[in-house]
Amino acid sequence: MRLVDAHAHLDDEAFQTDLDQVVKRAKQKSVIAVVSSSLDLEGARRTLALARRFAGFIFPSIGWNPTSFEEEEMEAVRQLIGRERSTIVAVGEVGLDYYWVRDAERRKLQVKLFREWIDLARSLDLPLVVHSRSAGKYAIQVLLEEGYDRVLLHAFDGRAGWALRAIQRGMFVSIPTSVVRSQQKQRLAKLLPIENLLLETDSPVLAPVRTERNEPANLVVALREVARIKGLPEDQVAEITTENAIRFFHLPL
Ligand SMILES: [Zn+2]
Repeated sequence: MRLVDAHAHLDDEAFQTDLDQVVKRAKQKSVIAVVSSSLDLEGARRTLALARRFAGFIFPSIGWNPTSFEEEEMEAVRQLIGRERSTIVAVGEVGLDYYWVRDAERRKLQVKLFREWIDLARSLDLPLVVHSRSAGKYAIQVLLEEGYDRVLLHAFDGRAGWALRAIQRGMFVSIPTSVVRSQQKQRLAKLLPIENLLLETDSPVLAPVRTERNEPANLVVALREVARIKGLPEDQVAEITTENAIRFFHLPL
């Protein structure tokens, strides 16, 4: 069996001291690749370094935390993405966060910046990983308006009906390890076609047990739960979701 963790943050401080062990445990649990996403300039540099250190296993996706509005740093990240176009597998995560950002003006600014990230992904011909906390519907509306559908909606917390509309346009949704404790994620796993699903951990967060640090080795927990919900054999769910991830990110595996 082979699995791809479609979304994690291995540049996070939580992995500073034992990443070798974390990678080893992931490999022991059938994980053959992790797409690691950064959220700021420092994280982007760390993630690119990790992709060199664990070449062929960690693949970098460079993005921006939508709750941050540091224009200069954002521009530096954009330029870095342009320079590293051939090594990165996606732009993201980027998007909208209406959970932490409540102010109407700030939300408007988030939408404007989100459109700029979509433009960047389009101009570089890269897929886009989208964060949409408490803003699922709004993020999908922007994507539909922009007409960009090379999109992975990660840890989508909106209504399944909106996710279905996105999928009808060819977008993908990744089901996180927290599916074992989230009815909303279970509903997504049930309603969305397996042909459009990927699996993710979002390490170090969204662990199967809320208070624990998450790590890619836990991906098998999401696999088991999706297989159970869909009534499909685990190896079939593994094969389809892995192929989806390889095709979506163009992973050289
Ligand atoms: Zn994330």
